[in-house]
Amino acid sequence: MSIKSKKIIEALDSLFPNAKIELTHKNTYELIIAVILSAQTTDVSVNKVTPKLFKKYPNIDTLSKANIEDVIKIIKSIGLYRTKAKNIILMANQVKDNFNGEIPNTRTDLESLAGVGRKTANVVLANAFDKDVIAVDTHIHRISIRLGIAKKTANAREVEESLYKFFPKENYLKLHHQLIFFGRYHCLARNPKCLNCPLYDICVYENKMA
Ligand code: SF4
Repeated sequence: MSIKSKKIIEALDSLFPNAKIELTHKNTYELIIAVILSAQTTDVSVNKVTPKLFKKYPNIDTLSKANIEDVIKIIKSIGLYRTKAKNIILMANQVKDNFNGEIPNTRTDLESLAGVGRKTANVVLANAFDKDVIAVDTHIHRISIRLGIAKKTANAREVEESLYKFFPKENYLKLHHQLIFFGRYHCLARNPKCLNCPLYDICVYENKMA
């Protein structure tokens, strides 16, 4: 492990020792739905609609038979609700038809489902199936560049590869949540807390506050 990666791990352990996924869920079914719904919206707003959604549609089978207008009514306070309603019902049908009603545990199978891209697949693989992967969201993308882990021009996939090279495998799951927390609560897109940042010395962000 490099001195820099050790320093980042130590700083994150100290800032966010208990970082964890903030999408409320009780099982893999609820996790994948919550992650699909969280695209371009906050976890807080997703957590407001999922209790009612999961109560009415507690599993793949019930959701696969759902009326789209009813699902829209339940989730309409979140962004892209029409597309997301369509995707989660279609996803439930695909899981039922192609995977015997079980959420699959490989990237290829997960990415074959409606509404599931690489990021969503990685969140499910890591959190439900303990796979060593990191899902690159907007926070992780931003701070990986600011900390010089990834190139300034890197796309999400390139950031992901840079993170795998930079950090030891055994740290991925915890780091994934800690990096999100760091971006969400400390190194914010606007007004990052530079003056109180344990990573100030290694940060390469040209606009960090002096
Ligand atoms: S110094 Fe500022 S920009 Fe750099 S990592 Fe810390 S909070 Fe983020």
